[in-house]
Amino acid sequence: MEALVSELNRLPTIGRRSAERLAFHLLSSDLEDAQALSRSILEMRERIGFCQQCHNIAEGELCAICRDGRRDPSTICVVEDPRDVLAFEETGAFHGLYHVLGGRLSPVKGVTPEKLHIHELLERLKSGAARELILATSPSVDGDATALYIRNLAQARVELITRIGLGVSVGSSLDTTDSITIQRSLEGRRGMH
Ligand SMILES: [Zn+2]
Repeated sequence: MEALVSELNRLPTIGRRSAERLAFHLLSSDLEDAQALSRSILEMRERIGFCQQCHNIAEGELCAICRDGRRDPSTICVVEDPRDVLAFEETGAFHGLYHVLGGRLSPVKGVTPEKLHIHELLERLKSGAARELILATSPSVDGDATALYIRNLAQARVELITRIGLGVSVGSSLDTTDSITIQRSLEGRRGMH
């Protein structure tokens, strides 16, 4: 019991008391339910990795979005995190491809350009398939700095670079923002040239 409580306690947002509550809940639940939960955790870890093209989560070499022939390769939306991909997908308003950076530049936290998938993005642009790059990093100081950094490197390689409209409230992250606000921020994007 103690081993499970301390494992649950290591998860984000799960404090000691919540961990205990979850452990007791699992103790009183059906054995099949507990087995299904532990199986999903293992299968998720064993089967899911990262897309070789966009760095989104993927089963296999490419993610479901990169594999989907109906997506428009002329637009690439650059986001920080795979959770941002989910947030954009939930709007149903974006039909292009993504590029997941794996974070945003932060001198304070030691996140330098080499730690993000920026080089891979520039390589990806070499094919010439993309005409528009939408920079959808978070509307924060670091998110803006990341967008500017990418714009400076990418502007010679792509026709149009846009930044999502800052209808998304300043400082918030995309995965806590509702679909309508995200859709509006996408529609309100502006050129960065
Ligand atoms: Zn992908």
